[in-house]
Amino acid sequence: MSPKSSKAGKAKARKTGFRRIATEEAFSVPEQMDAMREVLARQTEYDPDLFLWKVQTDPNGPVNKPLLDLEGERMRIMDRDGVDMHLLSLTSTGVQMMEPGKALAVAIAANDRLAAAIGRHPDRFAGLATVPPHDVSGAIKEAERAIQKLKLNGIIINSHTNGEYLSDRKYWPLLEAIAGLKSSLYIHPRSPIPAMAAAYRPDHLEHAIWGYQAETGLHALRLITSGVFDQISSLKIILGHMGEALPYWLYRIDYMHGMAPIQFDRAKLKKRPSDYFKRNFMITTSGMNWHPVLKFCIEVLGADNIMWAIDYPYQTSPDAVKFMNTAPISDADKHKIFHKNAERIFHIKQA
Ligand code: MN
Repeated sequence: MSPKSSKAGKAKARKTGFRRIATEEAFSVPEQMDAMREVLARQTEYDPDLFLWKVQTDPNGPVNKPLLDLEGERMRIMDRDGVDMHLLSLTSTGVQMMEPGKALAVAIAANDRLAAAIGRHPDRFAGLATVPPHDVSGAIKEAERAIQKLKLNGIIINSHTNGEYLSDRKYWPLLEAIAGLKSSLYIHPRSPIPAMAAAYRPDHLEHAIWGYQAETGLHALRLITSGVFDQISSLKIILGHMGEALPYWLYRIDYMHGMAPIQFDRAKLKKRPSDYFKRNFMITTSGMNWHPVLKFCIEVLGADNIMWAIDYPYQTSPDAVKFMNTAPISDADKHKIFHKNAERIFHIKQA
């Protein structure tokens, strides 16, 4: 990466009028690849996430090199397409399939490498810290180190860990710590918990075609109905893929949650489910380059709650840039979605 091409990238971004911060951009580190090769070596039965990890750990596969690369091809593509910044996150499943001790060690290594890359290119990279949810106290300590010392821009967790969701009260101290750090939590997809994945198995529907959004949308809904947002009212959660289908269902969720004649055994909430979704969640456009859904989400959630993303290297940067460049929305909203909301939520310095 020469300084010359970095300048060219900035010039191109300026010329087109929008600073572009992409907010769900995956990377990996050798420590994660090695640890996942160990997990793969212990595998005894089909696992949808490991199915993908077999591809991701293959040096000759389509995503291994793009994931491990930060300052080569990735930056050339950013320059070419006028993408100013990647908000990087360790690729799914992060450290969540590793033994807890190993998971913490890999999280620390990944966060250190991420902070170093941001230090070398503070105008091109920001990043979300990885934590091991299955080691709650270790995760809290690493979240504190990542935000306070490494100055990373938020936390990412890839949906369930060993089949458990963050709505389980044992994880609330971690959620409280994230809110206490004035940070936010990106809940990124992974394949569904085994009980759900079985039903999606034919034609591999348990992957990103449907399983990811079913799993992650359920995770977010479980958080809402658990009452955690009455307890931790400032907690901010970010969902990719235009909100993992939840915006579409909010009316029905409210209606059914409030159905008086049938007494379900549910936590009592102070507000309607949609009120928490609007107050405690933001969404990104990752992997959903589709104008009708964008317009719908702006109408339901407001342009202040939507951020642009590519989902590099799993989806392509020209598609995502063209999608937002050509979106039939106001320039003011485009500025919010391309960069202003990300600057606010992830504490990214304004350009
Ligand atoms: Mn992604």
